[in-house]
Amino acid sequence: MELTGANSSRVGRIRSRIGVLGGTFDPIHNGHLAIAAAVFNVLELTSVLFVPAARPWMKESGSGYGVSSIDHRIEMVKLATERREGFYLSTVDADRGGSSYSVDTISDLREEYGHATELLLILGADALEELPRWREPERLASMCTLVCVGRPGSGLPEDLPADHPGRDAQFVSGPMLPISATDIRARVAAGMSIEGLVGASVGAYIERHGLYRRDPA
Ligand code: ATP
Ligand code: MG
Repeated sequence: MELTGANSSRVGRIRSRIGVLGGTFDPIHNGHLAIAAAVFNVLELTSVLFVPAARPWMKESGSGYGVSSIDHRIEMVKLATERREGFYLSTVDADRGGSSYSVDTISDLREEYGHATELLLILGADALEELPRWREPERLASMCTLVCVGRPGSGLPEDLPADHPGRDAQFVSGPMLPISATDIRARVAAGMSIEGLVGASVGAYIERHGLYRRDPA
């Protein structure tokens, strides 16, 4: 919208809108990039920050799966984002260390970018469903705009109960790609191709470092 006349100087203080996509990114895949692109376009974001969790607390117990080192996950996010306009790696969780909670991610980014910047936390529909079990979910929701993107197998935000911390999330339907990092790791372990699921440079990185193989080189 073009704004002219008496209001333009006031409204002209263009607020930047920064999308924040946190994740384990083990590995970053085309599903992540596609939801970030959908939100970037639909909500007219200035940029999207991809924030790898230092220690993803929700994957610490019971899964029996050892998360790849933060250095590998950072490198893959770098490779996947470096030629994409508006997409950036943020090491805010890696720099803080310890278990990574989104409430800390947003509060650190709020300090970094100030109050004139709108922060939009992008969550796949599965992550939105889990939100009540995250650390301080109501405070988290009060500090940023929650954006939910559809994911195959997960429900819509409008089906959430009234006391759910994600009840006010904006919804972007997105491309609904049936891609998950769990499936990618299983495919590599089984010697199957992951072409089309991750970017070519990420695929080459996985191969070069022997990630996800049953018999690491
Ligand atoms: P894993 O299988 O290891 O849990 P993942 O594919 O779910 O990996 P994460 O790093 O856990 O990837 O996800 C980070 C964020 O991206 C979460 O909010 C998740 O809901 C979202 N996300 C990941 N893949 C998709 C997808 N295909 N469609 C929609 N959202 C997705
Ligand atoms: Mg996941």
